[in-house]
Amino acid sequence: MSKQNTDIIADSPASETGAETALKQVHHNIAKQAKLAGRSHDEITLIAVSKTRAQEQIAPLIAAGHRHFGENRVQEAQDKWPELRGQEPDIILHMIGQLQSNKAADAVALFDMIHSVDRLSLIKALGKAIADQNRKVDCLLQVNVGDESQKGGCAINDIAALLDAAKEHGVPVTGLMCIPPADIEAAPFFALLDKLCREAGLPERSMGMSSDYGVATALGATMVRVGSALFGPRE
Ligand SMILES: *Cc1c(COP(=O)(O)O)cnc(C)c1O
Repeated sequence: MSKQNTDIIADSPASETGAETALKQVHHNIAKQAKLAGRSHDEITLIAVSKTRAQEQIAPLIAAGHRHFGENRVQEAQDKWPELRGQEPDIILHMIGQLQSNKAADAVALFDMIHSVDRLSLIKALGKAIADQNRKVDCLLQVNVGDESQKGGCAINDIAALLDAAKEHGVPVTGLMCIPPADIEAAPFFALLDKLCREAGLPERSMGMSSDYGVATALGATMVRVGSALFGPRE
């Protein structure tokens, strides 16, 4: 691992410095990695993962001008976000957790982007909800890059068929998302997702979390999903 990436991982937790300071630090790290990779900072969207965080913890980031937030549960997001959005209508909300087909309509009503599309039944439910509600919700296919049985995401071999199904059912898919296996180096999985995106002609790559968003940035991420580096450790 490069010195720069080690520096990122060693950053002090957000709880010591406040969410706004942490936000600046994360942006600084993304900019540094982007520059090293010959990319522009503007190519990378930072999604603040606010799952389990209370409205009072989220509000300072909104006040600091941050707009992209990620949640992993429909119910929790329904409880938290309508009020925050009432104060700041430009919020862009990302669904990053596993999604049940019977929650597809609720997800389409609330979220601007869904990162976790991974099977035909969900594509059908999303297509119906998008048509019923006449809403534009961009979607990503989640790919189970480590072939782990407990994780969501489609098999690499199913990507092409699911992209065809998404087209057929009116679900706009703009890219791929992955959560690599824990405890082993993530870089090869990020490189793989980047390659799969290029092969499929898809522009968006949602990859990288608090421990590895720098590496993901260097390897082509267009969206990084960062929680604990911004808000401190989760309970
Ligand atoms: C929780 C979560 C994150 C953020 O994790 P951190 O390690 O806190 O940055 C990113 N992506 C997904 C899908 C998550 O569920």
